[in-house]
This record gives sequence, structure tokens and C-alpha cells, in this order.
Amino acid sequence: MMHRKKAIFIGVLCTIITIAAIYIFYYKDLHGSNYIHYNMFMKDVNEGRVDKVYIFDSDKIRSIYKDGNTFITDNPRKNTFKEELLLMGIKVEEKDNRLQIARGIIILALAGIVIALIKTKDGSTRFQTQRDADKFSSISTDEVDNMDIVFEDIAGNEEAKDSIKDIVDFINNPKKYSNYGARLPRGVIFYGPPGTGKTLMAKAVAGEAGVPFYALSGSDFVQLYVGVGASRIRDLFKKARQKGKCVIFIDEIDALGKKRNSSIDSGGNDERDQTLNALLAEMSGFNKNEGIVVIAATNRLDILDDALLRPGRFDRHIEIGLPDINARYEILKLHCLNKPLAEDVDLYNLAEQTVYFSGAKLENMINEAAIFAAKRDKGSIENDDIERALYTIIAGEEKKDRSSISSRDRKITAYHEGGHALVTKLVAPENRVTKVTIIPSTKGVGGFSMNIGPDSMYYKKSDMENNIKIALGGRAAEEIVFGSENITTGAANDIEKATNIILNMIKTFGMDSSMGLINYDILHQSGIDGASEEIVEKCKVSLQEIYDQVKKILKENRTVLDKIANTLLEKETIYEDELDSLIKNHRVCA
Ligand code: ATP
Repeated sequence: MMHRKKAIFIGVLCTIITIAAIYIFYYKDLHGSNYIHYNMFMKDVNEGRVDKVYIFDSDKIRSIYKDGNTFITDNPRKNTFKEELLLMGIKVEEKDNRLQIARGIIILALAGIVIALIKTKDGSTRFQTQRDADKFSSISTDEVDNMDIVFEDIAGNEEAKDSIKDIVDFINNPKKYSNYGARLPRGVIFYGPPGTGKTLMAKAVAGEAGVPFYALSGSDFVQLYVGVGASRIRDLFKKARQKGKCVIFIDEIDALGKKRNSSIDSGGNDERDQTLNALLAEMSGFNKNEGIVVIAATNRLDILDDALLRPGRFDRHIEIGLPDINARYEILKLHCLNKPLAEDVDLYNLAEQTVYFSGAKLENMINEAAIFAAKRDKGSIENDDIERALYTIIAGEEKKDRSSISSRDRKITAYHEGGHALVTKLVAPENRVTKVTIIPSTKGVGGFSMNIGPDSMYYKKSDMENNIKIALGGRAAEEIVFGSENITTGAANDIEKATNIILNMIKTFGMDSSMGLINYDILHQSGIDGASEEIVEKCKVSLQEIYDQVKKILKENRTVLDKIANTLLEKETIYEDELDSLIKNHRVCA
């Protein structure tokens, strides 16, 4: 609107100026010379001193004398004067035509100016360039005010919800926290597999806190031109600050926050570094409790640059994992709330069949089923529609997708994780096993056991041996249950861990009596070599001895192992209380 008014205003001004210019031109033509009385002029005409006369549309004439002088005089005989002058041998030129043409040209030019200005106000010419430039350096954010997504819209993910609730409270009551000198975590990272509801969770934080939500993707910042990404970051934070409290959500943070100079990185990238630095600078720039929370999401926490994860930056890391059976059931119920389900649909049974499905995939499956039902138009979504949707989704999966993991693989995972958990509880009861699951996470390929050792300054030799036992518990369980021919690659990380521990025990901590109190790295640095083979042999033998002990423990407690594995197959996740009671209800020997 502003532009339109401005253009019209400029157009009118130009018109006035042009008309004034014509007038001046005309006036100058007429009055730019000395005036001479008509009598005198006629006398000069008769005496042959006049060379040329311009007759104007008005009642004036301008004469040019043979000596070069120019005079203006009156023309009392408008219509007859030209012939008389011509008869007297004086050149005559009428100024009317020229004026008409000049006026025509000027009017056309004026019309052109006005049209051009009108076009401009529509935004297609002069201002367009400016807007393009603005667009280039500014970021288009998916800003949603008045978010109506709340925690209730997220099924499962209870641990993540708990970890983020205080941030909502922080945004709502910053004073409460600053009274205690607490600062709002500046950045939060949600990590986990695709489609597990990371974006949903970030939206819910904004929704719960009742603040605007800005969403954009890390890849939006990574541009071809150095500096553009950084200026986009500044632009974004400027916008956010104008809003006061808000949630900024950066999806795919790895696009700009990958480890620098790592093997994952394909080489130096000035643009990305500058953008990342700008982000870090902006984050450290805002006041402690300003109420701006930056939430980033990634599928892989391990590839992010350390600078990003340091205290005061993205220092809170929250895993948003794949849902277990109960969470899947909750997600299915949530997405079926407003759908007409037939009586024959059993959502719990569906949850059982959809192991390793993410929330997004479950939502998609229900939607497909609703589409099938709509096509049939029988009034409700029947089990057949759901079966068809499930089949379509599983059939469309890539083979490597986890949804199509066979029940045999699940069984192997259940025994492997059960093995770790049981060995932990038997050999190191002071350790906590807060959660055992066969749902894969970034922490474990097949599943994982969350094993927390007691805090202590020193590790005893027996602690280190126990840690090796816990690490080898998975492989040992596989071998006992499935046979030595069927052991799997699932133990790769465990073997790496066990090797590290035993190597350190022998060559650094002097914990093996036959190898002595020697630091073999120092020997090596001093040019004394030759012990390598002996160290390798010693590691091998010690690990085998420990492994045999682990197998013995598990064999003796096979019933409990089976019980844990079966419970895992049924429930997918077991928490510490249930694990403890499973172990307590069976006679165990360590
Ligand atoms: P990506 O890593 O691919 O960006 P994401 O983790 O951000 O994925 P979302 O985009 O939040 O996943 O999830 C997609 C959709 O899946 C959601 O809009 C929602 O419909 C559904 N969904 C995912 N998880 C849940 C959940 N826990 N409860 C309810 N719905 C869910």
C-alpha cells in the first residue's frame, strides 16, 4: 500500500515538474530576448534589417536581425502578418507546430513515467531488486504463533517429556528460577531416529509455554556463498528477540554442526563454520533468562561438533527413541481418536505387530487404513483395512529397514541384552540397570541395557574384570542359547570395550602379575620393543578365562535368562524394578 501511494505521489510531482519545464521552455523562447516596440520593429523590417521572424501561437513574435540581435514584439495582425513578411523577403517560421509536437512528446513521456511508477508500486521493477536482495540474506521461517500442540498430543516419550517440562516452566516463570540464580538451558538437542516426534515435541514445548515457534532446517543455512548463512542466523535471532519469548527449532542441525575436520566431514567448509560460529555467538549473546529456547534435532548426536555441545550451548541432550509396545499402543490410540474404528480392530494386537515402527510410520499406517476404508465407504475402518495398510507399508520398506526385522533377530537381541543385564545384576549388584530394551537406539545397534556403575575415583581390578564380564555377557548368552555356530556380529562393540579394558589392565595399570609393573607404552617410546606378542597372548588368554566364567554364570542361571528374554520379547522394554523382581523370583547363583 505504501508503495502505491508513493508512486502516485512521485508521478504527480513529475507531471508538475514537466509542465513547469514546458512553460519555462516556452517562456524563455518568447521572453529570453529584448522587447522592441512594434513601430520600431516595422521600421527595421522596412529598412531590411530583419532576417527571420518566429510567429507564436500567442500575440507575440520574435525576430532575429541580420546583425544577430534578437527582439520580441507584439503581433497585432495575427493572421495576415506572415504573408506580408514573406513578401518583404523575411524568413518566417510558425512556432505552433513545434510546440504541439513538443507537448505531444512530453505528454507521452509523462504517461510513460506515470505507468512506470505505477508498475513499480506493484513491486515488479525498482523495488523488486531490493526485495530479492532482502530475500537472499533473510530466512524464511515457519513461524507459528498460538501453537495448539501440547504434551497430550504426544503419546509415549514420557522420559523425554519429563526432561523438557522444566524448560516450559522456565519460559513461563523465569523469575522463579532467576531468584535461585538458575539459568535457562540455552540449547536443547533432541536426538533419535527419523519420525519419532522430535519436531512434535519442540512444537509442544512452544504450545505448553504459549510462545511463538520458529522452525527451520539446518540445510536452510548452508548456502553456496560465504556469509549468507551467518547473516540468516543473525536475522533469525533478531526476529526472535523482537518476539521476546519463543522457541526456535532447528531441524537437521548436523547440516551445519557436523564435527569439523573429522573423517565424516568431506573437507573444510568456510560457510558452514561461519554459520555455526554465528549461531554459537547468538546463543551466548542472549540474556540468561530472556525466554528464548533453541531446540535442535538430529538423527545422530555422535557426529555433531563438540563446540556445539559444550555447556552454555546445546548442553541438554534428550533422546527421543523409537516407541516400545506400550508407546505404540498409545500412539495408535491417539491417531485413531477421531476415526470411526470397527469393533474388530484390536489396537494392542496392532502395536504388537508393529515393532520398530516410529510414530510417524504408525500415523501413516492409520491414515492409509482410513483411505482404504473411505474407498470402500462402508462407514468404518475395519481390521482388513488396517491389515492392508500394514502390509503396504511393510512391503514398501527397504530391506534394511528395522520394521521388517525377523522374529529370530528379535530373539537374538532379547537374549543378548538379557545376557548383559543378568550378568550385571549377578557380578556387580551395586551397578544399576535402569532400562533394558530390544528397541534399537543410537546407543546400541540391536537394543541396549542402561548400565550405570557407582561413582568412584578409582577402579579396582575386580571392577575392571566385572566390566569385561558385563560386556561379554551378550555374546555368552547368544552362544549358550543359539550355539557357537550362530554367534552374531552384534557383539562387535562389546568386544572392542573388553579389549580396551584388558589391554589397559596389562600394559598401563600393572594389574597382571606375570606381565609385571611395567608401562609398556613407555618401553615402546624408549625404543624397547618385543613384548607385543606376549601382550597380545596375555590379553587373549585373560579374555578367554573371563568369557568362560561368564558362560558358566549364565548357564547356571539359564532359567532367569530365559525369563528375562521372554519378557523382553513380550514387552520390549523392562525397567529396573521388574528386572530385579524377575531375578529375585528365581534362584540365582553367581
Ligand atoms: P524427522 O527426524 O524425520 O524430522 P521427527 O522426529 O521430527 O522426524 P515428527 O516430524 O515430529 O518426527 O513426527 C512426524 C509425525 O509423526 C507427527 O506429526 C505425528 O503425527 C507422528 N508422531 C511421531 N511421534 C509421535 C508420538 N510420540 N505421538 C504421536 N504422534 C507422533
